[in-house]
Amino acid sequence: MTRRRGPRIVLLGKQGSGKGTQGQRLAERFQMQHLSTGQMFRDSASAGVPVGLEAKAFMDRGELVPDELVVAVVAERFQNPLEVEPGFVLDGFPRTQTQALQLDEILGEQPIHVVIDLDVPTDVVVERMRSRGREDDTEESIRRRLELYDTETKPLVDFYRDRSLLATVNGLGTEDEVQGRLLDAVATRFPG
Ligand code: ADP
Repeated sequence: MTRRRGPRIVLLGKQGSGKGTQGQRLAERFQMQHLSTGQMFRDSASAGVPVGLEAKAFMDRGELVPDELVVAVVAERFQNPLEVEPGFVLDGFPRTQTQALQLDEILGEQPIHVVIDLDVPTDVVVERMRSRGREDDTEESIRRRLELYDTETKPLVDFYRDRSLLATVNGLGTEDEVQGRLLDAVATRFPG
């Protein structure tokens, strides 16, 4: 019996661009895991796990969790073939150049099929974050996270464009519209 394999997808995009919602839907569609580093840290913090509590101190301030900590958590998940062999949606990782290079190491012979930049204007994401009101969605933390997105994460758009892995998708519109565009972007690089 051969198991069906799905696409290996990375979602880039500003905080509040809809990566979480759309990533979850994409993962369900292909019956694979949605791996959100932010969600992993929130879950382990609320369960009182030390790595989560350590991460929370950074998250509450809108700072990035140090690369070593994030990479360790992701690498651990990828050690389990059942989680990642069917394909996956990585949401919120990589966020720095160091993480991107580490991800290459982790994936080895099974590289990413497509990196999607979910594009939403800054004034819209700020409004969305203000209204969702998550614990780390304070004005100061929102400002700091967007600043770090520009300096640390945005350069990854060029990094993946240079490797011909990038697809830019308009993140404005209804949830269904955006999902449709994401599926189109995946289909051009993973015919299935
Ligand atoms: P948002 O996209 O709104 O920042 P996330 O749930 O993706 O929401 O992330 C929440 C927080 O988790 C980030 O502000 C950051 O502190 C931490 N985090 C998540 N992923 C990473 C990562 N790859 N590298 C560093 N920090 C991360």
